[in-house]
Amino acid sequence: MQVDYLVIGAGISGAAAAYELALAGSVLMIEAETAPGYHSTGRSAALYTRNYGGPIVRLISQASYDFFLHPPAGFAERPLLTPRGSLTIAAPGEEARLEAILAVSMPGHEIDLLSASDAHRLAPLMRADRVGAAAYEPGVMDIDVAALHHGYLRGFKQRGGRLLCGKRIDKLEHRDGDWHATSGDYAFSARVIVNAAGAWAGQIGALAGAAEIGLMAKRRTAIIVEPPAGLDVGAMPAVDFVGSDAYFKPDAGRIMASPGDQTPIEPQDVQPDELDIAVLVDWLEHETTLSIRRIASSWAGLRSFVADDVPVVGFDDKAPDFFWLAGQGGYGIMMAPTLGRAAAGLISTGTFPSDLRTSGIVTSALAPSRLYGGPTA
Ligand SMILES: Cc1cc2nc3c(=O)[nH]c(=O)nc-3n(C[C@H](O)[C@H](O)[C@H](O)COP(=O)(O)OP(=O)(O)OC[C@H]3O[C@@H](n4cnc5c(N)ncnc54)[C@H](O)[C@@H]3O)c2cc1C
Repeated sequence: MQVDYLVIGAGISGAAAAYELALAGSVLMIEAETAPGYHSTGRSAALYTRNYGGPIVRLISQASYDFFLHPPAGFAERPLLTPRGSLTIAAPGEEARLEAILAVSMPGHEIDLLSASDAHRLAPLMRADRVGAAAYEPGVMDIDVAALHHGYLRGFKQRGGRLLCGKRIDKLEHRDGDWHATSGDYAFSARVIVNAAGAWAGQIGALAGAAEIGLMAKRRTAIIVEPPAGLDVGAMPAVDFVGSDAYFKPDAGRIMASPGDQTPIEPQDVQPDELDIAVLVDWLEHETTLSIRRIASSWAGLRSFVADDVPVVGFDDKAPDFFWLAGQGGYGIMMAPTLGRAAAGLISTGTFPSDLRTSGIVTSALAPSRLYGGPTA
């Protein structure tokens, strides 16, 4: 099968790029698993937080907002964003540490300082004596990840794109001006390869003979537990802490919690670590009024980083017509609308769409060449 663009990986990154690219030429998206979204995309905390990550990540997430709020007609049956809010709690004695958080809030998306009693009113699950003060970010939203991902996949199909699941690309060869990809006995040819393989993007780069970008996968664990009987947590904000990487948030009437772990690990179908969960349960019972007798479910997902924690979007300098869309870290869902457009713009016209350029997102900041020869994440 011969196409213009072969997208490897049908998570949120590949799906967004394939959807946008389908307007520019023929696109085949290949996914190793039997269903798209099985890895990081189906395992996230599903939050849209503008004030998260470094300055470039924030610009990218901000630039996604319009798409989330006003997706194209027919893209999704439900809103892609719903208000959640986010509290960052400082224990008594730690209040001064909130200043760093208040200082980084973006104009128009301010973060407010709350007293202990106001913070406790918003998050009644907390033990009152564990709250000294808090920063509150009202603009944080829940993302309907399934609706976003399905919207991209459906729109991609409507635009004439083709998705093939259950095919793991195991060989890439550039010959006579085209890429030749194989998965077992199946062979595909394309002018351009888009590497959206998430934690496996480094392996795909190696198959193509591309330059080394130092991508590192890190495990993050999550659990779901029941809230205390009679406590409606539906309107509670997400809660994180100046003194800990752990956080929790409401999830369909229950509580999702994560220790905020980032353990380097080889790309794989990652599973939660029992010790991480035990430590998390102990911490939750110390900070909140939760008494955890049963864990309703648990999972782990991979977040993939390069050294500067900025995504990698651009053509490789070594492998011809080989495009990187990798290193989305802990922001890949909220960045997807922008990065899908950025990738399609660069691939089909050689530049980002003009609204992205005027927002201050420059191609060199995302280009893989910034990473050559540097340290790994
Ligand atoms: C616990 C957790 C919480 C998170 N919370 C948030 C959050 O609140 N907000 C946010 O924006 N982000 C969050 N993230 C990050 C976000 O989930 C990721 O950045 C995003 O899902 C990355 O998407 P992706 O498409 O690049 O990767 P993936 O979803 O992993 O997709 C890559 C795909 O490539 C396929 N693939 C790999 N190798 C091959 C091959 N050889 N051939 C064919 N296919 C291949 C894989 O099977 C996979 O389906 C979180 C992540 C985790 C783990």
